[in-house]
Amino acid sequence: MGNWITIERIISDYFSGGKYQLSKFNFAMLLNENLKTYLENCLSQQISVPVNIREILAIGGGSINYAYCLNTNAGKFFAKINNASKFPEMFTAEARGLELLAETNTFNIPNVIKVGDFENVSFILMEFIEAGKCVKNFFADFGSKLATLHQHTNIYFGLNHDNYIGSLKQSNIQQKNGVMFFIHERLQVQIALAEQNRMIDSSTIEQFEKLYGKLETILPKEKSSLLHGDLWSGNFMTSPGGKACLVDPAVYYGNREADIAMSKLFGGFDNDFYESYNATFPLIKGWEQRIDVWNLYPLLVHVNLFGGGYVAQVKSILKRFC
Ligand code: ADP
Repeated sequence: MGNWITIERIISDYFSGGKYQLSKFNFAMLLNENLKTYLENCLSQQISVPVNIREILAIGGGSINYAYCLNTNAGKFFAKINNASKFPEMFTAEARGLELLAETNTFNIPNVIKVGDFENVSFILMEFIEAGKCVKNFFADFGSKLATLHQHTNIYFGLNHDNYIGSLKQSNIQQKNGVMFFIHERLQVQIALAEQNRMIDSSTIEQFEKLYGKLETILPKEKSSLLHGDLWSGNFMTSPGGKACLVDPAVYYGNREADIAMSKLFGGFDNDFYESYNATFPLIKGWEQRIDVWNLYPLLVHVNLFGGGYVAQVKSILKRFC
């Protein structure tokens, strides 16, 4: 496959203050000389300037793809690559998700330059977001913008195409009933996968069956909202203007509490975020008590992606609601 490019630098701790922590680390990856030349040609065509990639920096922080900053004579670009046959259409779906978010004119969203395949490597090329310094009201602005994004509603839950959550396929078959959507398209899909991979036992599956019967009373009834779909702290950045920029979405129309819940899965965002969200588009009373129910979905995704350590969390939530 040609000469491997050695990448000696990882950019990590990217979000917090935009500091690049450099460490020596050698990669043998999918980004070889041939792909580099191909990406140069793509960039040259797209921006109508001959582009030479001078340096490739690996970026940490993501969990699924190989991410890079491409330093070129025409500025920086962001690239993600992965195995094309393992994850078909993954970057096409990501580009469509970013476009849907961008159309709402709420957040800064990186502009996608090109999605393509080269020798069984798929890639997405996009605008490089140079991490800025957070403005003082960063989280208040973030919260009110998310509330505005969530005011883009639909009569259906789901989406007109499937996409990915992490590296797992996310089915988005549209339906009018939000609870049924959550059960069929979110929980059951992941439970089937977890069962197939022997990650969960039959008593957990039985408890889920019990929970399904209660969800109509537990969950609120609202129109579906356009969601980011994977809103944890690794999926927003600080744009050069100091405000939130969303990346790596798994969009669909769903209950907006799912995005709020996801934001709380690993510790939660600053309190200003929730206050400002609620001031703009108040959540239905009792939303705090429903967070763990919504988070059964990302937790099951974590079970399937990263292993059984998350099963205990799933079980303890089921115990409380069944
Ligand atoms: P993955 O698909 O593997 O989860 P992400 O899309 O989350 O990868 O990207 C990995 C990291 O790269 C993010 O955490 C973020 O810090 C950074 N990043 C994402 N998009 C851009 C961009 N357009 N410009 C600069 N950095 C980015």
